[in-house]
Amino acid sequence: APFPIKLSGPVQHGFGRGSKDLGCPTANLPDDSLPPMIDAAKTGVYYGYAQVTPSQGTSSSLSDQDVCVLPMVMSFGWNPFYKNERMTAEIHIMHEFKTDFYGYDMKALVLGYIRPELHYISREALIEDIEFDKKVALKSMARPEYEKYMSDPFFTV
Ligand code: ADP
Ligand code: MG
Repeated sequence: APFPIKLSGPVQHGFGRGSKDLGCPTANLPDDSLPPMIDAAKTGVYYGYAQVTPSQGTSSSLSDQDVCVLPMVMSFGWNPFYKNERMTAEIHIMHEFKTDFYGYDMKALVLGYIRPELHYISREALIEDIEFDKKVALKSMARPEYEKYMSDPFFTV
Protein backbone atom coordinates (compact mmCIF):
# COMPACT_ATOMS: atom_id res chain seq x y z
CA ALA A 1 0.00 0.00 0.00
CA PRO A 2 1.12 3.57 -0.66
CA PHE A 3 2.01 4.75 2.82
CA PRO A 4 1.47 7.16 4.44
CA ILE A 5 -2.32 6.99 4.24
CA LYS A 6 -4.15 9.97 5.78
CA LEU A 7 -7.47 9.60 7.58
CA SER A 8 -9.44 12.13 9.59
CA GLY A 9 -12.85 12.71 11.10
CA PRO A 10 -14.79 13.05 14.35
CA VAL A 11 -14.54 10.09 16.78
CA GLN A 12 -17.68 7.92 16.66
CA HIS A 13 -19.27 5.62 19.19
CA GLY A 14 -18.55 1.97 18.55
CA PHE A 15 -20.59 -0.96 19.77
CA GLY A 16 -18.93 -1.07 23.16
CA ARG A 17 -17.68 -4.55 22.48
CA GLY A 18 -15.60 -4.26 25.60
CA SER A 19 -12.44 -2.72 24.22
CA LYS A 20 -12.00 -0.92 27.49
CA ASP A 21 -12.38 -4.24 29.32
CA LEU A 22 -9.57 -5.58 27.17
CA GLY A 23 -7.40 -2.68 28.33
CA CYS A 24 -7.47 -1.38 24.81
CA PRO A 25 -10.07 1.31 24.02
CA THR A 26 -10.34 1.96 20.27
CA ALA A 27 -11.54 5.28 18.87
CA ASN A 28 -13.70 4.70 15.78
CA LEU A 29 -13.38 6.79 12.63
CA PRO A 30 -16.57 7.69 10.71
CA ASP A 31 -17.51 5.66 7.59
CA ASP A 32 -17.01 8.60 5.25
CA SER A 33 -13.36 8.97 6.34
CA LEU A 34 -12.41 5.44 5.24
CA PRO A 35 -12.09 5.58 1.41
CA PRO A 36 -8.30 6.22 1.50
CA MET A 37 -7.92 2.89 3.37
CA ILE A 38 -10.60 1.01 1.41
CA ASP A 39 -9.00 2.01 -1.91
CA ALA A 40 -5.46 1.20 -0.95
CA ALA A 41 -5.16 -1.41 1.73
CA LYS A 42 -6.19 -4.90 2.82
CA THR A 43 -7.85 -5.62 6.14
CA GLY A 44 -5.70 -6.16 9.20
CA VAL A 45 -3.71 -4.33 11.86
CA TYR A 46 -1.68 -1.21 11.04
CA TYR A 47 0.57 1.22 12.90
CA GLY A 48 1.18 4.93 12.61
CA TYR A 49 0.62 8.25 14.32
CA ALA A 50 -2.62 9.82 15.52
CA GLN A 51 -3.68 13.17 16.93
CA VAL A 52 -6.86 14.13 18.75
CA THR A 53 -7.93 17.78 18.75
CA PRO A 54 -11.07 19.60 19.95
CA SER A 55 -13.51 20.29 17.13
CA GLN A 56 -13.65 23.97 16.20
CA GLY A 57 -15.40 26.25 18.60
CA THR A 58 -15.80 23.74 21.43
CA SER A 59 -14.18 23.77 24.85
CA SER A 60 -11.79 20.93 25.56
CA SER A 61 -11.03 18.75 28.55
CA LEU A 62 -7.85 17.44 26.94
CA SER A 63 -4.38 18.37 28.24
CA ASP A 64 -1.39 19.49 26.17
CA GLN A 65 -0.05 15.91 26.39
CA ASP A 66 -3.32 14.53 24.98
CA VAL A 67 -3.28 16.68 21.84
CA CYS A 68 0.27 15.68 20.80
CA VAL A 69 1.03 13.44 17.84
CA LEU A 70 1.06 9.97 19.42
CA PRO A 71 1.83 6.42 18.25
CA MET A 72 -1.18 4.24 17.47
CA VAL A 73 -2.26 0.80 16.28
CA MET A 74 -5.30 0.54 14.04
CA SER A 75 -7.57 -2.36 13.28
CA PHE A 76 -9.11 -2.07 9.83
CA GLY A 77 -11.68 -4.65 8.79
CA TRP A 78 -15.18 -5.83 8.07
CA ASN A 79 -17.80 -5.18 10.70
CA PRO A 80 -19.64 -8.35 11.76
CA PHE A 81 -22.37 -6.15 13.31
CA TYR A 82 -23.40 -5.09 9.79
CA LYS A 83 -23.08 -8.62 8.40
CA ASN A 84 -19.70 -7.63 6.97
CA GLU A 85 -21.25 -5.04 4.67
CA ARG A 86 -19.28 -2.20 6.16
CA MET A 87 -15.66 -1.55 6.99
CA THR A 88 -14.47 -0.06 10.27
CA ALA A 89 -11.23 1.54 11.35
CA GLU A 90 -10.60 1.57 15.09
CA ILE A 91 -7.58 3.28 16.57
CA HIS A 92 -5.89 2.56 19.88
CA ILE A 93 -3.64 5.47 20.81
CA MET A 94 -0.67 4.51 22.96
CA HIS A 95 -1.27 7.14 25.59
CA GLU A 96 -3.18 7.36 28.84
CA PHE A 97 -6.15 9.74 28.40
CA LYS A 98 -7.98 10.89 31.54
CA THR A 99 -11.27 11.34 29.70
CA ASP A 100 -13.08 10.00 26.64
CA PHE A 101 -12.93 12.10 23.48
CA TYR A 102 -16.04 11.13 21.50
CA GLY A 103 -16.83 13.80 18.91
CA TYR A 104 -13.30 15.18 18.91
CA ASP A 105 -11.42 15.39 15.62
CA MET A 106 -8.96 12.58 15.08
CA LYS A 107 -6.26 12.48 12.43
CA ALA A 108 -4.33 9.34 11.60
CA LEU A 109 -1.24 8.90 9.46
CA VAL A 110 -1.06 5.19 8.64
CA LEU A 111 2.55 4.13 8.09
CA GLY A 112 2.69 0.36 7.89
CA TYR A 113 1.04 -3.03 8.05
CA ILE A 114 1.50 -5.41 10.98
CA ARG A 115 -0.67 -8.48 10.29
CA PRO A 116 -3.94 -9.77 8.84
CA GLU A 117 -7.15 -10.06 10.89
CA LEU A 118 -7.11 -13.21 12.96
CA HIS A 119 -9.73 -15.16 14.86
CA TYR A 120 -9.12 -15.83 18.51
CA ILE A 121 -10.07 -18.80 20.55
CA SER A 122 -9.94 -16.87 23.82
CA ARG A 123 -9.98 -13.39 25.30
CA GLU A 124 -6.52 -14.04 26.75
CA ALA A 125 -5.13 -14.91 23.31
CA LEU A 126 -6.57 -11.70 21.87
CA ILE A 127 -5.20 -9.53 24.69
CA GLU A 128 -1.77 -11.11 24.28
CA ASP A 129 -1.74 -10.41 20.53
CA ILE A 130 -2.82 -6.79 21.01
CA GLU A 131 0.07 -6.30 23.41
CA PHE A 132 2.39 -7.78 20.78
CA ASP A 133 0.98 -5.44 18.10
CA LYS A 134 1.74 -2.45 20.33
CA LYS A 135 5.36 -3.59 20.71
CA VAL A 136 5.72 -4.14 16.96
CA ALA A 137 4.29 -0.66 16.31
CA LEU A 138 6.61 1.07 18.78
CA LYS A 139 9.67 -0.83 17.45
CA SER A 140 8.86 0.12 13.87
CA MET A 141 8.24 3.76 14.64
CA ALA A 142 11.49 4.01 16.61
CA ARG A 143 13.34 3.85 13.27
CA PRO A 144 14.87 7.27 12.44
CA GLU A 145 13.10 7.30 9.03
CA TYR A 146 9.74 7.56 10.76
CA GLU A 147 10.56 10.56 12.96
CA LYS A 148 9.70 13.06 10.23
CA TYR A 149 6.07 11.93 10.19
CA MET A 150 5.50 13.25 13.71
CA SER A 151 5.97 16.77 12.40
CA ASP A 152 4.08 16.18 9.14
CA PRO A 153 2.10 19.29 8.10
CA PHE A 154 -1.00 17.03 8.13
CA PHE A 155 -1.00 17.35 11.92
CA THR A 156 -2.12 20.42 13.81
CA VAL A 157 0.43 22.53 15.69
P1 ADP B 1 -16.49 2.18 21.57
O1 ADP B 1 -17.12 0.85 21.29
O2 ADP B 1 -17.51 3.29 21.74
O3 ADP B 1 -15.45 2.51 20.53
P2 ADP B 1 -14.29 1.62 23.40
O4 ADP B 1 -14.35 0.75 24.62
O5 ADP B 1 -13.53 1.07 22.21
O6 ADP B 1 -15.77 2.02 23.00
O7 ADP B 1 -13.66 3.00 23.86
C1 ADP B 1 -13.33 3.95 22.89
C2 ADP B 1 -13.29 5.37 23.42
O8 ADP B 1 -12.39 5.45 24.53
C3 ADP B 1 -12.72 6.32 22.37
O9 ADP B 1 -13.75 6.80 21.49
C4 ADP B 1 -12.15 7.43 23.24
O10 ADP B 1 -13.13 8.41 23.49
C5 ADP B 1 -11.78 6.73 24.54
N1 ADP B 1 -10.34 6.49 24.74
C6 ADP B 1 -9.70 6.69 25.93
N2 ADP B 1 -8.39 6.39 25.83
C7 ADP B 1 -8.16 5.98 24.55
C8 ADP B 1 -6.98 5.55 23.85
N3 ADP B 1 -5.79 5.48 24.46
N4 ADP B 1 -7.12 5.20 22.54
C9 ADP B 1 -8.34 5.27 21.94
N5 ADP B 1 -9.47 5.67 22.55
C10 ADP B 1 -9.42 6.03 23.85
MG1 MG C 1 -13.88 1.17 20.02
